[in-house]
Amino acid sequence: MGSKKVLNNYGSFDVVFKSGKGSVLTDINGKKYIDFLAGIAVNSLGHNFKPLIKAVSSQAKKQIHVCNYFLSDIGVKYADELLNATGFEGVFFGNSGAESNEAAIKLARKFGQLSGGAKRKTIVTLEHSFHGRTMATLTATGQDVFHPETFAPYVEGFKTIKPNDYGSLKDAFDDTTAALMMECVQGEGGVFPLDKEWAKAAADAARKAGAIVICDEVQTGMGRTGTLLASEQLGINPEVVTLAKAIAGGIPMGACLYRGKGNVFAAGDHQSTFGGNPLACRAASVVLHELLKNGFLSSVSEKGEYIQNTVKNWNLPCIEDVRGKGLMIGIQVSKNPVEVEKLCLEKGVLFSTAGKNVLRLVPPLNIGYKEIDKGLAIIKEVLEK
Ligand SMILES: *Cc1c(COP(=O)(O)O)cnc(C)c1O
Repeated sequence: MGSKKVLNNYGSFDVVFKSGKGSVLTDINGKKYIDFLAGIAVNSLGHNFKPLIKAVSSQAKKQIHVCNYFLSDIGVKYADELLNATGFEGVFFGNSGAESNEAAIKLARKFGQLSGGAKRKTIVTLEHSFHGRTMATLTATGQDVFHPETFAPYVEGFKTIKPNDYGSLKDAFDDTTAALMMECVQGEGGVFPLDKEWAKAAADAARKAGAIVICDEVQTGMGRTGTLLASEQLGINPEVVTLAKAIAGGIPMGACLYRGKGNVFAAGDHQSTFGGNPLACRAASVVLHELLKNGFLSSVSEKGEYIQNTVKNWNLPCIEDVRGKGLMIGIQVSKNPVEVEKLCLEKGVLFSTAGKNVLRLVPPLNIGYKEIDKGLAIIKEVLEK
């Protein structure tokens, strides 16, 4: 199968999926696959998760969409739940990671204007970062491969610095800086966790220059790294956090959370037609509820450590590094990662590559050890060849 009708920029594999249950996917031929991809860190509760299905079905019967001229009961309820759980003061709901980051960029520019006048508008991002595919978020993305001339001109007012490098902090920030924007673990760039001490130093330096700190937690957020937000582990108290991917367990949704100096949005500053619709909010409420259950987040850390230790213990020469946080794991290999990905897919395990040479594992957060072992055994077999 395959189709020329749907814009396909993702390099197509000859597999067509039909259904899923838990951390196992089934294709149209009935073949089963262990899911270490979770729709790119989206299906955090796996497939066909009963409480989510039930809530979404019952919400669909009540109300799917109202628009932001009005509030919805579930929208208000979920906003409260999310703000309570994360310690933020306000939230903008959108539909994707890029849209959440666009909101954060607009927010940062407004903050800059209010606090430092017209000159304070630069947003500093990190090399290897990924922030989305819209014009501003592409520009924010610190990887040259995302900036071909085809799409020029890009957006003004962005600058990148090297992560985990103290030298890069020297003249990174001044009175023209509105915000420092960074991922706590760089996902698409190759699963590079930020060094805690460096992240703190970077946040301190940015704030000393009068800027705010934005954490792009579109991939790391909502339990992926073993805490609700990954920024909790860095101890940097960002003024703004952006979320999407896993927030509503597969229903498209994004959020831009703000507090303190980042609390500058006024009514009318930013909007989105679908943003925060009742169906998405109901799904997101179920996801949040699951994540906050006793022991859930610690089990994410435990499973992540188990995977990292298992892979390290293989002692395979083609494995150059194993890193990550929680269930966001990168295996850096000396083999062609796309070949490994393809062979693994044939043998029944699904994951993606990131950066230049990294296998990225982001399974559902509620995956069982049995599936973990099965999937890892296939990866080992392929890497041993
Ligand atoms: C996936 C991702 C985005 C973009 O999200 P979309 O929903 O595809 O727009 C932005 N930032 C990070 C860190 C991501 O992983």
